Amino acid sequence: MKGQMMHRPLKIADIITFAAANYPNGELVSVRTEGDIHRTTYRETAHRVAQLAHGLNKLGVNPGDRIATLAWNGYRHFELYYAISGIGAVCHTINPRLSAEQMIYIVNHAKDRILFCDTTFVPIIEKLRAHFPEDLRVVIMTDRAHMPETSLEGALCYEELLDGQPQEIDWPDFDENQAAGLCYTSGTTGNPKGTLFSHRSTLLHAFTLCITIPKVLQEGTRILPVVPLFHVNAWGLPYAAPLSGASLIFPGGALDGKSLFDLLDTEKVFSAWGVPTVWLGLMNEINQRGRLPDGFGDVVIGGSAAPRTLIEAFETKGVNVCHAWGMTEMSPLGTQCNLPPDMADLPQEQRIDRKQSQGRGVFGVEMKIVDDAGNRMPHDGVSQGHLYVRGNTITSGYFEDPEASTPVFDRDGWFCTGDIAVIDPQGFLKITDRSKDLIKSGGEWISSLDLENIVMSHPDVANCAVIAVPDPKWDERPLLVVVPREDAQPQEDDLLALLADRLAKWQVPDEIVFVEQLPLTATGKVSKLTLRKQHAEGGL
Ligand code: AMP
Repeated sequence: MKGQMMHRPLKIADIITFAAANYPNGELVSVRTEGDIHRTTYRETAHRVAQLAHGLNKLGVNPGDRIATLAWNGYRHFELYYAISGIGAVCHTINPRLSAEQMIYIVNHAKDRILFCDTTFVPIIEKLRAHFPEDLRVVIMTDRAHMPETSLEGALCYEELLDGQPQEIDWPDFDENQAAGLCYTSGTTGNPKGTLFSHRSTLLHAFTLCITIPKVLQEGTRILPVVPLFHVNAWGLPYAAPLSGASLIFPGGALDGKSLFDLLDTEKVFSAWGVPTVWLGLMNEINQRGRLPDGFGDVVIGGSAAPRTLIEAFETKGVNVCHAWGMTEMSPLGTQCNLPPDMADLPQEQRIDRKQSQGRGVFGVEMKIVDDAGNRMPHDGVSQGHLYVRGNTITSGYFEDPEASTPVFDRDGWFCTGDIAVIDPQGFLKITDRSKDLIKSGGEWISSLDLENIVMSHPDVANCAVIAVPDPKWDERPLLVVVPREDAQPQEDDLLALLADRLAKWQVPDEIVFVEQLPLTATGKVSKLTLRKQHAEGGL
């Protein structure tokens, strides 16, 4: 027997309509590329979102079209999230830190029709324009007075697209499984892979955030996402904040400790979200000034493991640390480590021990750990296995990439995270290692295989391997280990120049180690585990 309740599709645009009606004065504060601070409310934003949606319709955007953004965290980027998905198109956020090659790949793979960009990124687009689809239109996210000189033919001005458009809109109805957002993430093998979020998955994820982190996601709190809107939808904050009535403070492009401290301080931000590298910069500034930013009381740390010293530094200063784990493919939230009431009074040392784990699962995300043969392992806090997840906010396959999709699902449809973990009887997850061959530096991925392929093309290199090594600032950095060909002496500078030619600067290793041979596994593959161990013991 079926229930007799109405079925209304879950749609993203309903969030901004709801926020405008119920939290009209909830704020969006943005550090703008124009150099000033811009303030607006959910009520005003809903009007501008409607204007932008009309503007997009006028440009001929159809449901399902991919509309790309290359932009910092700011109110215009937020408006694009709602207007693009509101009319049934797909908001494709591009990471500006990608190499030119990767950016060209994803704009073409996504078949983007329009590219919205901040003025900062105009030079990048000018350089790559010839490699993008011919009919791609570019819209520069500023007003007429700040439009830069550009060689981009027919570039439009964002504010002119909105000018004169009606401030109200009847959002179209469509199936809640309609695609809404697209975000590419680095693959272990070469090309990035797209996660295609739906309206339904986005709303379910926003609900989950609100019930999981209720002390932060509530009416009147002020939240600063350092995590970029181009990185898994800033962990869902652009949806969960208006849904709960919280305000958002967007930092623009300046993410150094001093700029962040000043913004947190003047805007009385309660909670800030981002990767460990950013918080190390902020902590230096806090130590230098000898005080916390005014009103600051909570930090969400994710994207990489939060170092113990960082957790300790925040907690001893009275700032609650919520260590979280997730993935682009999971929308992203999987676990969070706010402590349950019965652990709140533990001695500080034990609380910090606990918070070093990635915490307990959120509603809607099932987790299992399995051995190499796929057999389930117990959640006993000791057994270590491959972590698989399943749920309504988790990808069911990469965008137009069956080849990359097949290997990441098991027979029962669970998604393989590529993380190695233990889960204890109380449900706390601890990530202990990574099986995917990637390096995460400052919150961004570097593919070991990409680096190795480039280095192997050098005539003096017989073999090579790239491993992740711990770094106090960037969490991890790539280390290149090279076996020279017999009678050859490849030069460090030559190899680094070869890499710099093909990759973004931050992806190039800082160091190369030359060895006579690489350790191998029983099946003859390079044993990166052994290499990492040798490095840790000073043996490289
Ligand atoms: P991304 O899709 O870029 O968000 O990266 C997701 C991956 O980052 C995960 O599969 C982990 O390997 C890593 N990661 C994210 N959060 C954490 C965390 N709190 N601790 C350890 N690794 C993490």
